[in-house]
Amino acid sequence: MNKDEIVIAAAMNGQIRIHAARTTQLVEAARIAHNCMPTSAAALGRTLTVTAIMASDLKNSDEKIVAMINGHGPSGTILAQANGNGDVRGFIGDPGLYFAREDGHLDVARAVGTDGNLTVTRDMGLRKTFSGVSALQTGEIGDDFAYYFAISEQTPSIVGVGVLVDTDLHIKAAGGLICQLMPNASEEAIQKAEQAAAIMRPVSSLIDEGLDLPDVIRLYFPDAEVLDTRDVRWHCGCSREHFFNSLATLKESDLEEMIADGSGAEIRCQYCNSLYHYDTEDLKQILEMRRVVHR
Ligand SMILES: [Zn+2]
Repeated sequence: MNKDEIVIAAAMNGQIRIHAARTTQLVEAARIAHNCMPTSAAALGRTLTVTAIMASDLKNSDEKIVAMINGHGPSGTILAQANGNGDVRGFIGDPGLYFAREDGHLDVARAVGTDGNLTVTRDMGLRKTFSGVSALQTGEIGDDFAYYFAISEQTPSIVGVGVLVDTDLHIKAAGGLICQLMPNASEEAIQKAEQAAAIMRPVSSLIDEGLDLPDVIRLYFPDAEVLDTRDVRWHCGCSREHFFNSLATLKESDLEEMIADGSGAEIRCQYCNSLYHYDTEDLKQILEMRRVVHR
């Protein structure tokens, strides 16, 4: 299987910027971590993919993009986070959804809903963050990000994103294609982008057929030049130590109660669903740490 990656390209002398992503393994890892049924896997996978693409323009791992979708549908909140290192993680409120449309396609809009917003936060490190919010349009996620780019970032964009789920629930193919008009775009470039949008096939199908990302891009923009290729992967980065430190922020009385109870503490990471167990000895150590700090 081809490895996950993001290719960044430019067409029409830099007037159109294109990102193409293959995220099959990333979305499969997310599906396994959260035990997702197909429609939840597709909704989460699409959000992870676009967020990963946005983060591929960042320079280092201190810089992050967080996208949060809440359309008040049965899926609940979908959150994706990606950093400049290509690490991507996220979750969906209800991973157990399986809605299909009459044509057999997964009904992502029914899971997500349309009564709400897409919020994107760009965390540039050193406490500099920028947030933008736009109203959800269709709940299909690709359209919702396209609207966000147009409204909140003043960048006209075509967003194609898709996840193909196999009959055995595995992710067969996942990917995205984002084409954006640069501020200097000529009428000719705008027309070229519109033509591309009109003939665009689902990017997940192209990836499933085994097309390389530069070939996917050149289907629509034959003159495109590849500028950069970035690795991307499912990676949470949480650890036993991380949650050990967060237990240390509990009230002393709560810690004392947990120690007296004797059954230890369990913490589940919201992003990757990993379960961490701390026994009574660990809790005593945390309480001692707290007392030292507050003495
Ligand atoms: Zn985690």
